[in-house]
Amino acid sequence: MDLGIIDATVWTASDERPGLLTDTTIGITDGEIVYLGDRASLPTSPRRTIDGADLLVIPGLVDAHAHTGLRLAAGIAQDVPEIEWMTHALGPVTREMDDDDRIAGARLGVLEAIQSGVTTVAEYAGEVRSLIETVHLPAGLRVVGIETINEVAARPEGDMYELDRGVGEAARQRAEALFEWVADVPRCSAMYGPQALDMVTLETMDELFERATDTGRRLCIHLAQGGRERRQLEARYDVSSAYELLEANDWVDPRLVAVHAHGATETARERMATAGVPLIGCPSSIAGIDGINPPVASYLAHGGTAGIGSDQAPGGGGSHTLLNEIRQAWLAAKLTSGDPTTLPVWEILRVATIGGARALGIDDIVGSIEVGKRADIACFDLTTSPLAPSPTSIGATPVANLVSAGAGAAVAYLLIDGELVINNGYVQTLEPIAVETDAIERADNLHDRARRAWLDAGSSLADASTEGGPFTSDDAAH
Ligand SMILES: [Zn+2]
Repeated sequence: MDLGIIDATVWTASDERPGLLTDTTIGITDGEIVYLGDRASLPTSPRRTIDGADLLVIPGLVDAHAHTGLRLAAGIAQDVPEIEWMTHALGPVTREMDDDDRIAGARLGVLEAIQSGVTTVAEYAGEVRSLIETVHLPAGLRVVGIETINEVAARPEGDMYELDRGVGEAARQRAEALFEWVADVPRCSAMYGPQALDMVTLETMDELFERATDTGRRLCIHLAQGGRERRQLEARYDVSSAYELLEANDWVDPRLVAVHAHGATETARERMATAGVPLIGCPSSIAGIDGINPPVASYLAHGGTAGIGSDQAPGGGGSHTLLNEIRQAWLAAKLTSGDPTTLPVWEILRVATIGGARALGIDDIVGSIEVGKRADIACFDLTTSPLAPSPTSIGATPVANLVSAGAGAAVAYLLIDGELVINNGYVQTLEPIAVETDAIERADNLHDRARRAWLDAGSSLADASTEGGPFTSDDAAH
């Protein structure tokens, strides 16, 4: 046995209720969980041990939807109307980004993920393989790579997008190559990423579904994500919703993984949940961009599978700290329903672990602490505020305190595939100060380059930053 986590407080995610196991020992051999039980019954002595007496041990968190490559654009696209967000606020900056900007941003995003207990990130990007190879895998993460397929040739102002299959040809080929590549790469799997129903042709959706049916693969799509998408679909296909288009084409299918779906009606959500379409909600992102709480709780109530994701930083999220998303989802569900019993702590924690793993199709290997699964495990320090104090005698206070702590919770140890990615509070695979310094320098440079285009794009946020606006730096001098 390589490693033993001895006498810890363990929440396995395999129970429906908090089900805290106290004084419990976990044994790991060759990256696999081989023992869960009393220390006294350990079959052999582990070569290395971690004292679990002051640790809350949970399955590694699953960030089921992220665009970490956009991390350097944080702060330039919040507080604008949804219709402006992508084209007027974010677009002028992302168009200026080069590969090194995306890599520096992704590295910072991955650092944030690791430091918040995340062991799997589903990365959604164009040319995602190079990002994964350069950033995610060297950082020790488990990754689901999703190649973005987008066929928008032009976006005439106030009109239908021009779609062209030729525009997506290279991305479709990259997606196929990605599946072949990940087959031999440890800690890595893949999905197709048709960006949204208004951004790819129906022919491409048909082709991807056909490929997915033949091969057992999945498609991950941004779905029912607001007014911009709905107007495009209405104009092009004469349908009133994204769901209507899905149903008309027979695409309400478990091979489809729906991100967002906050624009779907309750009936549509129920039908998708019943049909086995997993939902990935992105609480901060969608609150920030659309002013809406993603329908995670209602999806669960319909019996659906749900995960959560950090999505992108320039919007409501600000970072890839999944603990903040857990807290946001937990509280926002209560605000939406007006009922404090909605989405209890154990349920949102299941969403962020085994739920995300199910949505990504990797629940056979990770998502819960069970003998036979890979050792993707997060250990939180119960001796520092805000997790301290967390007594266990009258309830699952460590779980409740973890969910409400958000980013304040400290990861003491993080294991991915049995490897210690955080050891005694220190990240082993990245140099945090160097990552942050690089991101700061590159963001300064990027924002300087994009400044003119961003101001000229006409978002209401840019108006506020122009001469005399509330964000004008000259104010300090007056
Ligand atoms: Zn997204």
